[in-house]
Amino acid sequence: MTILYDYLVIGGGIVGLSTGYSLLQKYPSAKIAILEKEPELAFHQTGHNSGVIHSGIYYKPGSLKARFSREGGELLRSFCTSHEIPYEMCGKVIVATEQNELPLLQNLYNRGRENGISLSLINREQLQEIEPHASGLQAIHVKDAGIVNYKQVAQALAKVIKASGGDIFLQAKAEKITEGTEGIEVECSRQTYRTRYLINCAGLHCDRIAAIQGLQTKMKIIPFRGEYYELKPEKKHLVKHLIYPVPNPSFPFLGVHFTRMIDGHIHAGPNAVLSLKREGYRKTDFLWKDFAEVMTYPPFWKIARQHFGEGWKEMVRSFSKSVFVHSLQRLIPEVQAADLVRSENGVRAQALTHDGKLVDDFLIVSNQRSIHILNAPSPAATASLSIGREIAGKIPEPHRAPIIRLGR
Ligand SMILES: Cc1cc2nc3c(=O)[nH]c(=O)nc-3n(C[C@H](O)[C@H](O)[C@H](O)COP(=O)(O)OP(=O)(O)OC[C@H]3O[C@@H](n4cnc5c(N)ncnc54)[C@H](O)[C@@H]3O)c2cc1C
Repeated sequence: MTILYDYLVIGGGIVGLSTGYSLLQKYPSAKIAILEKEPELAFHQTGHNSGVIHSGIYYKPGSLKARFSREGGELLRSFCTSHEIPYEMCGKVIVATEQNELPLLQNLYNRGRENGISLSLINREQLQEIEPHASGLQAIHVKDAGIVNYKQVAQALAKVIKASGGDIFLQAKAEKITEGTEGIEVECSRQTYRTRYLINCAGLHCDRIAAIQGLQTKMKIIPFRGEYYELKPEKKHLVKHLIYPVPNPSFPFLGVHFTRMIDGHIHAGPNAVLSLKREGYRKTDFLWKDFAEVMTYPPFWKIARQHFGEGWKEMVRSFSKSVFVHSLQRLIPEVQAADLVRSENGVRAQALTHDGKLVDDFLIVSNQRSIHILNAPSPAATASLSIGREIAGKIPEPHRAPIIRLGR
């Protein structure tokens, strides 16, 4: 007889683990399990990102991203302190390098003020006191930004979950979901798991999990690869903290930037190119099913037309190191192609709706017996503990989770 769990989470990334952690904090005696298809946790987005603790400056006031990145950032810092995970609130600069970026910088500054972020507008000289090698006309200095290794955070969350009685199953890929009077059954290749309530935190595959449960989500995940270079050790002195460009407000990505990682390496990137495989970390990675799904999805062509110019620039930057370096030289003129070596890439899960909109905010959809996190791109790692707390707050108490058949 298989155990009937109160809560089953699909996905062992930082969002799934934060959710399991929050549920056990709220309901310590609940039976919880996390299913992860890979042989280790945090294998995808959580283990392949910039490691920045975002302040929340970029996001629309009142949005979940704005609220959760601020609240989540605080929860994250206090979790790191109690679990002895190194992090540093090193601050960051967002630099305008051309006259036409100054109004955008001012808008961003106003938005940051509205979001209650600690920041200041600084001139060229003040910028160079913070980042001696950076060049720009004007910049925003954001004090509330920092760095951490999210894989370490995920591992610490897993440790707490296990110590609190939760189960974590690796190499457990959810393939089929059926609902009956005895709960929801999730079939994996080696075992079937039963639960009263299901939580979908499957990142790059969240739309597919929702679909196999019969949910009409009206969206699809589009995978965007982010490619990174790394500064050679002898050039690490060029970057003290985090140096970002002014982002294009109509594009959901932040532009290539310099990031000092918590282990001392300096990363440059990521760009944003369509990945031909959902978990395609290399340019040559291709999966027919994933590729065909994007190409036959009409809303993709709508955004491809809308963002043709920006998308084309990103493609060129992907194939030409000199173009990539040229973008970086806008921030640090003395950086040269020879100073940079390729580093590990990441793939972002970005939701695109049937009416052709890239979903801007986090998207959480629930029905009577399940909840689905359908858009959790950056800053979801920063915000993860807040997302987990929100989900735990929306879910019925363990014994109240209803066991009834859902309409399809
Ligand atoms: C290049 C890049 C840079 C980023 N930089 C930052 C940053 O600096 N700061 C920040 O806050 N955020 C950043 N992000 C965003 C952040 O990394 C993600 O928002 C966050 O990691 C999402 O976590 P997740 O748990 O939803 O997804 P994931 O970490 O992808 O986890 C989902 C998990 O579900 C598992 N899974 C999928 N399907 C199944 C199945 N059928 N059965 C079982 N398991 C399954 C996967 O194997 C995976 O482990 C960045 C992302 C990228 C890609």
